[in-house]
Amino acid sequence: MRRKLIESLREKGIRDERVLEAMLQIPRHWFLEGAFVKQAYEDKPFPIGEDQTISQPYTVAYQTELLQVEKRQKVLEVGTGSGYQAAVLALMGARVFTVERQENLYHSARAMLDRLNLQRVRTYLRDGYKGLPEFAPFDRILVTAGAPNVPPALKEQLAPGGRLVIPVGKGEQIMYCIDRLEDGSFKEQKLDTFRFVPFLKGIRKK
Ligand code: SAH
Repeated sequence: MRRKLIESLREKGIRDERVLEAMLQIPRHWFLEGAFVKQAYEDKPFPIGEDQTISQPYTVAYQTELLQVEKRQKVLEVGTGSGYQAAVLALMGARVFTVERQENLYHSARAMLDRLNLQRVRTYLRDGYKGLPEFAPFDRILVTAGAPNVPPALKEQLAPGGRLVIPVGKGEQIMYCIDRLEDGSFKEQKLDTFRFVPFLKGIRKK
């Protein structure tokens, strides 16, 4: 079923074999508590509790491909959720830092990453609006919730030559791809439309 899903992502235009290979290795059904295994391998989002969802596989593949992550790069993910996207990045060889604002999800994602033997992924219970200043700069930053605007802290925490991928907008979002050039300036591209759960401020304790 997983192989079929990956094949369908390729048909939908995902070209980066490193992304497809990482997704082929991850048991997505582990992340979908209470679902039928079959549902885990449909190209659909799924509820993970706390009104949040694990992103649709196509969306994960699209964002990961756009991020153009290389081995050993420092990557900040905002919106750990289930931990699935963080696992994809880790399998691609990135040094992953991921932040989540909901305490319950933070704990369950940590447990899942440990179960996958991905102890090296660093997880934080934080408001991602502020990024993770003590570990900045990052080579790549990926936001997996729909943001009303581009948080200034995330742009600041991007290394020269770095890239920020963030869906921006209310209701529907446009995928922004923001590159930081070597001189410190920014170049912005606006790409396709998606629908994410909202990027919220502040952390939420259980
Ligand atoms: N990347 C996730 C999908 C996450 S859904 C996965 O692979 O499963 C978006 C997540 O962003 C939710 O878990 C939500 O709680 C979180 N989120 C929303 N606003 C946030 C913020 N300000 N800081 C950190 N996480 C946030």
